Amino acid sequence: MSKVIYSSPENLKELFQLLEQDQAATLWAGGTDLTVKLENKKIKVSHIINLKNVKELDFITASETIRIGALTSIRKLETSNLMQTEYPLLAQASHGLGSWQIRTLATFGGNLANAAPSAETATPILVLNGTMIIKGKNTERKVPAAEFFRGPGQTVLKQGEVLTEVELPKLTSDFKSIYLKHSLRRSMDIALVGVACALRLDGDKCLEARIGLGAVAPTPIRVPKTEQFLTDKTLTTSMIAEASRLAVEECRPIDDIRATASYRRELVQVLVKRALTSLVKDGGSDENTD
Ligand SMILES: Cc1cc2nc3c(=O)[nH]c(=O)nc-3n(C[C@H](O)[C@H](O)[C@H](O)COP(=O)(O)OP(=O)(O)OC[C@H]3O[C@@H](n4cnc5c(N)ncnc54)[C@H](O)[C@@H]3O)c2cc1C
Repeated sequence: MSKVIYSSPENLKELFQLLEQDQAATLWAGGTDLTVKLENKKIKVSHIINLKNVKELDFITASETIRIGALTSIRKLETSNLMQTEYPLLAQASHGLGSWQIRTLATFGGNLANAAPSAETATPILVLNGTMIIKGKNTERKVPAAEFFRGPGQTVLKQGEVLTEVELPKLTSDFKSIYLKHSLRRSMDIALVGVACALRLDGDKCLEARIGLGAVAPTPIRVPKTEQFLTDKTLTTSMIAEASRLAVEECRPIDDIRATASYRRELVQVLVKRALTSLVKDGGSDENTD
């Protein structure tokens, strides 16, 4: 058995020095995805760099924008008052990830960098128009969340780069948001379909719609035609039903071990309808939806 080098940098400077010496080293945050991959022999590691002591990456700050460090635990996202009030969809998505033991270990950056099409926090970030901050030794680039994911397990991250934080614009107070997930088991299971939805509402009228879907395409996606269809419309029952049908047309699910593509399409229709209905009921004095 070959030796594995283990490093535990205390700050970003040390981290980038280590990465410069060994760009093929594996970044280890909570390890909840990596442990499973190692166990299943899906990856080989020669050098693990544990990020846990790089405290500079563990923060949530709010000023003009809200910034969330990559090392922030999913449990913190779930329980943060700021997340619950500013971005209920992100707090709800975090609440649905694994068990509390997993959420305590698992990090925001790990969930995003792992780039599973079902990644719970990815669709909220798309809907919130997040910007990913990516740093290398002497570089920094900002990538819109919509351009970050490249395919299952693939992102724009290059060797030697680290996702350090995600920057999120604040939503105006007329936005309402929700995250819904359906999985085979009620807990401890990844989404068959995840739906993140934010609507800017004036009573029952939709001024802006943002909808993200997880696990129905090679990456988490937005559904622009559906969003456009809803914009400037009064959200009646029939309008919502039509929008949920449109969302199905915009996704590209596959058959896999968990579900068939056609079942996933059914789920998209049901969950988008449920999300829109609940936001209108919550946000307006609506009697048009059931
Ligand atoms: C029992 C169980 C249940 C789960 N349930 C769910 C679920 O319901 N929903 C869901 O979405 N996921 C689920 N997961 C998957 C996993 O817990 C999450 O994806 C978690 O957020 C990963 O974070 P981590 O810190 O553990 O990542 P790690 O395993 O440490 O890393 C994951 C990947 O990201 C890379 N990485 C980590 N941090 C950075 C960074 N800052 N910059 C660049 N690359 C980085 C690593 O190198 C690795 O390739 C589950 C896992 C388990 C074991």
